[in-house]
Amino acid sequence: MRWISAQLSAAFRVLTLVGRFSTGKARLKSVLLTPLTKAMRRVYLDHSATTPPDPRVIEAMLPYLTEKFGNASSVHLWGQEARAAVDRARRQIARLISARANEIVLTSGGTEANSLAIRGVCEAAASHGQHIITSTIEHPSVRGAIDSFEKQGWEVTRLPVYGDGIVRTEDVRAALREDTVLVSVMLANNEIGTIQPIAEIGALIRAARAADHRHLSFHSDAVQAAGRVAINVEALGVDLLSLSGHKIYAPKGAGALYVRRGVRLVPQQIGGHQERERRAGTESVANIVAFGAAAELAQKEKDARNEHTRGLRDRFESEVAARIDEITFNGNRELRLPHLSNISFRFIEGEGLLIHLDMQGVAVSTGSACSSGTLEPSPVIRALGRDEELARGAIRFSFGKDNTEEDVDYVVEALVHAVTSLRHLSPLSRQTAAVT
Ligand code: PLP
Repeated sequence: MRWISAQLSAAFRVLTLVGRFSTGKARLKSVLLTPLTKAMRRVYLDHSATTPPDPRVIEAMLPYLTEKFGNASSVHLWGQEARAAVDRARRQIARLISARANEIVLTSGGTEANSLAIRGVCEAAASHGQHIITSTIEHPSVRGAIDSFEKQGWEVTRLPVYGDGIVRTEDVRAALREDTVLVSVMLANNEIGTIQPIAEIGALIRAARAADHRHLSFHSDAVQAAGRVAINVEALGVDLLSLSGHKIYAPKGAGALYVRRGVRLVPQQIGGHQERERRAGTESVANIVAFGAAAELAQKEKDARNEHTRGLRDRFESEVAARIDEITFNGNRELRLPHLSNISFRFIEGEGLLIHLDMQGVAVSTGSACSSGTLEPSPVIRALGRDEELARGAIRFSFGKDNTEEDVDYVVEALVHAVTSLRHLSPLSRQTAAVT
């Protein structure tokens, strides 16, 4: 046991020394760890990145990968079978958000849904105004699409989220201009889980539209919120809302954009007549069926899943708070998704902690973005006003329906071990200062 621990620690020192180039680290790590990981417990706490497909969902999709392989646009029996399956899934997805089936545009995932919403609406409304309002904590797929309009000369107002990670409706009101054509604010954040006041903002947008601001649209990215927060598109007052199957226990490959009836959208994929001319391309039938089945299960099991993951998350947080000092919980702790915890560990690089935990079989994530060989601290944590060190030391733990209390207890032990070792090595740490 002591030998394994020494090996892990030596391996980690080597990994730390090879620098910040993650491909090199990953290769070296796989060489060093292959013999050690065999019998290790593995705990997946990265459900905000993706969820393991539910066996019931896989069972529902399998016939559409085998005997029911038809193209949903074909006229014959195979085609009709596929069409019926796509339509059923569309209804299941619509029910999850209390929308009409014909308001659902099926896409390849959340990124495409966000891109279609933002590009589609802005291109359609460009002659009426070129101003967009968004928040500082949007997912890169929203941020990137909006940045591309800014590069073309559009004006963008990015709203602050203060210390708690929440946009203020008053700030949206103050930012609205005559030439604003799009407001895009996510329903729940992917790194810290904070839930935004979408219904309040929706009511504000509706009132503005009623007062002759006819070309204003409201989009919300609900990829992280779906299946965890009750969503009723009417009550939220959104015109467009993005969803993704693989965050709710379906495989990767299907998502959806809710488009309220009457909203004008320029299609971004041109070709066939699928999706009522709003998104051309042969439907990925099996993935859509899986997404539909997952949406139905998410609706039925939402409360039980939330209660379960909240219990695990709260147990985890109270154990961590009791056993590790110099930590900061990121984001409002009430108005947040029940399965997610984001914690900054002072004196530690999140990336190092992630690798240390991975070596102990635990999967978590950082919000860091690897760009041109340097690790940028998470812009979401920075937006909360945290200093760079805390932003670099942030880790997201996201629990799922199949995690157990034993998983939590194992991860707490692994975390205590990792933090202690890393702080011992850290030049920033007081412990190191005391030793040297
Ligand atoms: N929006 C949010 C908030 C997300 O968390 C993600 C995925 O991480 C996406 C959009 C992109 O979804 P997809 O992975 O389906 O493209």
